[in-house]
Amino acid sequence: MSAEAPAPPAPVPAAWRTARARIGANVPDLPCAPVDDPADPDTVVGEYALGSAADVDAAVRAAAAAFPAWAARSAAERAGLMLAAADRLDPLVATAAAVLVAEVGKVPAEAAVDAGGASGMLRRYAVLHETADEATVAQDGSVRTILRHRPVGPVAVIMPWNSPVYLAFGALAPALLTGCPVVVKPPEDAPLALTGMLHALADALPVGVVNVVPGRGPEAGQALAGHPQVRAVFFTGGIETGAQVARAAAATITQVMLELGGNDPALVLEDATVGPQLVRELVAGAFTGSGQICQNIKRIYVHRRRHDELVAGLTALVEQLPVGPASEPGVLIAPLTTDAGVRRAEQLVASARAAGARVVESGTVVGDLRRGRFVRPTIVTELPPDHPLVLVEQFCPVLPVIAVDDDEQAIAEANRTEFGLAASVWSDDVAHAEAVAARVEAGTVFVNVHRLGASIEAVPYGGVKRSGIGRNHSTWSLRACTEPHATVTWSDAASTLPGLARWPQPERAS
Ligand code: NDP
Repeated sequence: MSAEAPAPPAPVPAAWRTARARIGANVPDLPCAPVDDPADPDTVVGEYALGSAADVDAAVRAAAAAFPAWAARSAAERAGLMLAAADRLDPLVATAAAVLVAEVGKVPAEAAVDAGGASGMLRRYAVLHETADEATVAQDGSVRTILRHRPVGPVAVIMPWNSPVYLAFGALAPALLTGCPVVVKPPEDAPLALTGMLHALADALPVGVVNVVPGRGPEAGQALAGHPQVRAVFFTGGIETGAQVARAAAATITQVMLELGGNDPALVLEDATVGPQLVRELVAGAFTGSGQICQNIKRIYVHRRRHDELVAGLTALVEQLPVGPASEPGVLIAPLTTDAGVRRAEQLVASARAAGARVVESGTVVGDLRRGRFVRPTIVTELPPDHPLVLVEQFCPVLPVIAVDDDEQAIAEANRTEFGLAASVWSDDVAHAEAVAARVEAGTVFVNVHRLGASIEAVPYGGVKRSGIGRNHSTWSLRACTEPHATVTWSDAASTLPGLARWPQPERAS
């Protein structure tokens, strides 16, 4: 190899190269499909098993068989096993992160957060074991009620490719703590790191508590969502797929938790100081993950008086962003993971240009962009507020910035879409910003920040309108894996409910 040749991507270790199914204790030998490197799609980095509906059925049966014994343990016992499993996963996090760089294409710092979610989520939920087992007792006259939260049964976990480990463990950890075995369907574009971690988790827990069936969404995913022995489905992904999952689950009266897309607006008010801090926060909020995070800033509404200085600041900073393969040191804008993502970005940018918008594609190129799924970070201005780039979820590093006349217009535009995951309001006057935030339709509205990690763990996570159903994180997730179970006792032997007198007395035995 010549001195100028780019370094090859770090190879995925042999043990992680095939995402195999795990059904109870079995690891069946299934046909496989390839996984490619987004920085060079001709390079195959691994393969995933093509699980069928029959494999899904076997996995759900394994979970159902494991359910009674897993549910019979106390939450404290399950938490102890989860903590021990987290200790076994810790040494694998660095390898899983490297695998994520290869299959998702994400930069190492973001891959480390994603992979660290495995042991991190097990620990985050294990500490909630007292809440999971909590029973409330109420006495109302002669009636005593004990309210418990019983595990629903086998839980299906279906997750997207953008943060596969973090999202899947965020869904399965509360299920495990509350007593529900799980069946996970990893995403076909990024199955390797997640499946590797799930096998390690399955090894650390009783047989059948953790099962995994890689495969294609319409086959394995659909079969899992509609399986009659699945009692709850945790799904994260796009709106259309979410609707398909909900329809499949409805056929068996199964509850769903849907975390769907976002089109998060950032509202920069007239009284915001457009300084380096604000510009940096907006750029990080919009371009982390190359714009492929549900909670990225996806559109900015800025007061007309602040527009030009904000656009100048954003453009200058975005120009400095290093764009290249995630394996290159210092890269911030890595390739998109899928071909569909690149096509969507190209169509939206072409359409914005045709609509007369000003489009500044920039970034600083690092390494070879010729073969990969690269989209350069782009700022789009002078765009009609009803353009598709504004109203759809672009899921790429292309950011529209729109001038508005006042708070009312900013709020109306922010609330205009069918999305409502998160949003942010930016102002020097916190009371003003909080008053505006209260009127924005979203599950979470940040003030003067907009990044993952900004909300504490106890904040329920999820969206309004078509951004989803239900909420995740903390005790909200625990309740989503359980059903209220009431024991109602008549506790006064000397009295009874009115109405018994009209029933005949039984004959007394002589
Ligand atoms: P998809 O909806 O295409 O896929 C999500 C998961 O569903 C994948 O595992 C996929 O499998 C599976 N799937 C596909 N078809 C079916 C089906 N018919 N039945 C059951 N499962 C199916 O989403 P993407 O992978 O493209 O992810 C991007 C989307 O996810 C974006 O819209 C983004 O906003 C959203 N997202 C939302 C988050 C949130 O918390 N609200 C967080 C992260 C992403 P396969 O990969 O094999 O096709």
